[in-house]
Amino acid sequence: MKLETVLLKEKLNRNDLTYLLNLEKEEELEKLFARAYEVKSEYIGKKVYYRGLIEFSNKCIKNCFYCGIRRDNGEVERFDMTEEQVIEQAKWAYENNYGSLALQSGERQDADYIQFVDNILEKVKELSGGKLGITLSLGEQSYETYKRWYDLGAHRYLLRIESSNKDIYSKLHPEDELHSFEKRVECLKMLKEIGYQVGTGVMIGLPGQTVEDLADDILFYEKMDIDMIGMGPYIPHDDTPMGRGIADSKEESDRKFKLGLKMIAVARIYLKDVNIAATTALQAINPLGREKGLKAGANILMPIITVDEHRAKYQLYNNKPCIDDNADKCKNCLAGRVTSVGDEIMYGEWGDSPHYYKKKG
Ligand code: SF4
Repeated sequence: MKLETVLLKEKLNRNDLTYLLNLEKEEELEKLFARAYEVKSEYIGKKVYYRGLIEFSNKCIKNCFYCGIRRDNGEVERFDMTEEQVIEQAKWAYENNYGSLALQSGERQDADYIQFVDNILEKVKELSGGKLGITLSLGEQSYETYKRWYDLGAHRYLLRIESSNKDIYSKLHPEDELHSFEKRVECLKMLKEIGYQVGTGVMIGLPGQTVEDLADDILFYEKMDIDMIGMGPYIPHDDTPMGRGIADSKEESDRKFKLGLKMIAVARIYLKDVNIAATTALQAINPLGREKGLKAGANILMPIITVDEHRAKYQLYNNKPCIDDNADKCKNCLAGRVTSVGDEIMYGEWGDSPHYYKKKG
């Protein structure tokens, strides 16, 4: 198969996707990333949109085997930001022209938690006169809760499938009602039905995961008509059943990093007009990770603006970057990174997924 021919095909098939994900030679990878950047420039522009990320609580009712803040991890110091703290950070994002917020926490479904989110949504809309866009990443909820938050002004929702292969999914999660694959897919469908721009994503480099599985993940994004993608390398966490005693060798993390970039590039070439985030997990492995993610076709960055005192406690994986920085430092360091790539930061804009509007016609 000639690389140039595949890269310019109108519609790739599963074999093409696996072929591209298997590329290893430096000069081939350069061509792949260059093509992905070209597609991004055509469908999105050489633009980057910010979502100021507030991780407002690390309490979680779930026990995902890979996650550092899983319920049974007794080593982690739990925290809740107060409503005032969240609003203060949201105000910072608004005053610094970030355009959008992303609100994330461990998963809870109780009435107090739902009310807390209600209050935040109302206040964020109020403080910004409706100008701050809002992405939620708050796990599985009932249809009523999703709808309620949508009506209060949240318009994007990120719920990662982590792996679209059910066998792999079942190895990442306990086998019970709370961690059901079907329920998760059902939630993605509900979010779409309600009207959210829907995001999902997978972990890359999981034990037992093949390149074919990753190609299927990209086909899953298409099948589910996904608008936004947030995916990154799987980084083991010491205090988890999956990560205990496992530290990736330099070789292994380089492999995952490269695979992460290839997934961004292939997803961009295949899906064209979706939003794709260059996640902090990329930067955790490689200091230039997010820049390389943008060069490979990503167009979204999520600078962490969680209050300083809690940043270190929200570690889903080892070596999370930026936990010692404050929001201001992050802003400056990121701006430099984006400019170095040749992209422009679209301050003050929502940066909605063009795919979402294309569907709406
Ligand atoms: S991945 Fe999400 S739902 Fe699972 S344990 Fe971690 S925070 Fe909770």
